Amino acid sequence: MGEFELIRRHFQREGHAARSPVVLGIGDDCALLQPRPGHQLAVSTDMLVEGRHFFAGVDPEALGHKALAVNLSDLAAMGARPLGFTLALALPEANEAWLGAFARGLFALADAHACPLVGGDTTRGPLNICITVMGEVRPGLAMQRSQAQVGDDIYLTGRTGEARLALELMRGTAWALLACGPHVLEEHAELRARLERPTPRVELGSLLAVLGHAVHAAIDLSDGLAGDLGHILAASGVGAELALAALPVAPALQLLPMAERMDCLLNGGDDYELLFTAAPIARAAVEAAALASHTPVQRIGRISAAPGLRVLDASGHPLAVSARGFDHFA
Ligand code: ADP
Ligand code: MG
Repeated sequence: MGEFELIRRHFQREGHAARSPVVLGIGDDCALLQPRPGHQLAVSTDMLVEGRHFFAGVDPEALGHKALAVNLSDLAAMGARPLGFTLALALPEANEAWLGAFARGLFALADAHACPLVGGDTTRGPLNICITVMGEVRPGLAMQRSQAQVGDDIYLTGRTGEARLALELMRGTAWALLACGPHVLEEHAELRARLERPTPRVELGSLLAVLGHAVHAAIDLSDGLAGDLGHILAASGVGAELALAALPVAPALQLLPMAERMDCLLNGGDDYELLFTAAPIARAAVEAAALASHTPVQRIGRISAAPGLRVLDASGHPLAVSARGFDHFA
């Protein structure tokens, strides 16, 4: 199977829906996309490298899902609606079964978000998946990291920490196995799913953006809650207080001693939840957006003028926590 046959067989699909923003898809030197009049183009790229972002031998269907999910999560964080994506793929070999499963996972999520594959590049090399996603958003409505305001509520979708715990268990890390026992991955199927099949919060993101000036900053959590909230604080020139007791704790995390549990919750990584800030006047509207998008949303703290991040225990006393977001070169 040659390069073009591989693309035709696994990645080229017939036709696009009427009213699709895709004027021209796979097959020419460029794709042509047409955002709706009066919209800005939102563009984001994320790369997944074998041995770095996923284990060699991971289920290819889950990998197809995750490669697109982490990109859609970036659109969600800005409140952009997906238009389409490109896929740059380096493969050690053209394995039919692998490609079929990868494409199945990829297109299932793409179809769920009406986000077609419009182009890409395919080459031989160590397994590497790079997706660029494009979306549209009305001028002035994109949620930026720099827009948090003193007095804002801080919200979190879903819950954090499970992906990190699953990763440590799959690595065989002693503290995780000791606390949870050897069968926890079978007993808590959601743990592995949270690592391998994250849910991008696209619909909530675009509903929040439409709320306009009451919803301020947002970020998607890829490197840990504390570190990623730190990006909002730095960009906005503000601080924050988080109520530890307000953070939802997954059943499997309840098996962990306090220190490891807090580390998973605050520094876990790979969560792909949204963290956003909004004026208190927006509480009812945020709740309505959460309901409409079937997304669990929790108020977990507030933005303060005093710089830095303080995590408070149930009686309001600051805890000593290290907020270290993941950094590939640290
Ligand atoms: P070029 O020579 O212009 O770089 P290619 O020969 O690499 O184009 O690709 C031919 C067509 O197939 C292009 O439209 C390109 O966008 C598309 N394509 C290549 N690889 C992929 C892929 N992995 N997924 C989707 N489309 C792809
Ligand atoms: Mg090429």
